[in-house]
Amino acid sequence: MAFGQLRLVGLSAFTRWIMDEKLEKTLSGIAGDHVRFHCSMAPYTTLKVGGEVAALWEVLGLEELLSGVSLLRRAKIPYFVLGGGSNLLIRDGGVEGVAIRLGGSLAHIEEDSRDELKLKAGAGLSISDLLAVCRQKGYGGLEFLAGIPGSVGGAVAMNAGAFGMDMASVIHCLEMVSPSGELVEKEIQELSFDYRKLHLEKGAIVSRVLLGLKRRAAQDIAERMAGYLKKRKKTQPLEYPSAGSIFKNPPGDHAGRLIEFTGLKGAKKGGAMISPKHANWIVNTGNARAEDILALIELTRKEVRVRTGVELELELKVLGR
Ligand SMILES: Cc1cc2nc3c(=O)[nH]c(=O)nc-3n(C[C@H](O)[C@H](O)[C@H](O)COP(=O)(O)OP(=O)(O)OC[C@H]3O[C@@H](n4cnc5c(N)ncnc54)[C@H](O)[C@@H]3O)c2cc1C
Repeated sequence: MAFGQLRLVGLSAFTRWIMDEKLEKTLSGIAGDHVRFHCSMAPYTTLKVGGEVAALWEVLGLEELLSGVSLLRRAKIPYFVLGGGSNLLIRDGGVEGVAIRLGGSLAHIEEDSRDELKLKAGAGLSISDLLAVCRQKGYGGLEFLAGIPGSVGGAVAMNAGAFGMDMASVIHCLEMVSPSGELVEKEIQELSFDYRKLHLEKGAIVSRVLLGLKRRAAQDIAERMAGYLKKRKKTQPLEYPSAGSIFKNPPGDHAGRLIEFTGLKGAKKGGAMISPKHANWIVNTGNARAEDILALIELTRKEVRVRTGVELELELKVLGR
């Protein structure tokens, strides 16, 4: 038994070493100094936990993204897109493969010369930068995003929303890189959105989005945003690192209400705590590990299942080993 386990450990370390060699050779050539190997993910997620990713690659333009994706695919190297890391839990053992961050021209914003109510935003742009432009130039319709951290691409992939609105209602068209490394454009009617989900082919990367907006006075936009932020401050534990809501609301109910009913508010595991302020939020009180957060997730699921019969579904994306 002990020998069998040793062999398994040895094999997986060897496989990892082969993978590292292949990765370094494949990426160093095309990514230059925009790639870092064995990079801790904790600083890149809002929960501030998680192990290392094999490589973190900052892709600065569309051509690089297109060639990069086909290269990774040909080399059979797994990858995922890291936006603002505000809906991500990376396990303590880290993630094999490459985290791709979109920057440079993929984080720009352009006004549409043919239609004054459209904005083209790169997926790597932060939501706060997008909202700053909207406020300054009088583009209304995205105020509901005030207080949602992360990137435009993450908001699209998660169909982020609040106060009865979501990304699906403002997207006009998406530009994406397919898993085989081709550029694809899709109009809204060709896309399938659900609650906190855009159905994307596995490995597809959103590169840019065309948003359909409304003309609104800058002052009006600023006031709407301030109103939403005030509501958030009242109900959300914004003083701690978190990933927002952990579970999706089940149809016709609120995950927070069900969790509160189980009496789990304030429950702790290591440095992680179910927020006493909002039961559907797990916060990092300072020294949490991913395993602490995962343990609270499992405890919550079990208690809610046993006490109410409802099976909660994760909104949070969990990656790694
Ligand atoms: C304080 C706080 C408040 C929050 N409030 C809300 C809220 O009110 N409503 C809400 O909906 N969410 C909320 N969230 C959750 C989170 O901010 C959103 O889901 C956000 O849109 C995630 O964006 P991100 O860039 O951080 O994505 P990440 O967390 O980096 O990634 C999330 C998923 O999207 C994928 N992804 C990211 N970019 C791309 C891309 N370009 N192409 C394809 N896939 C991509 C990732 O691979 C991953 O699977 C909150 C989080 C926090 C911390």
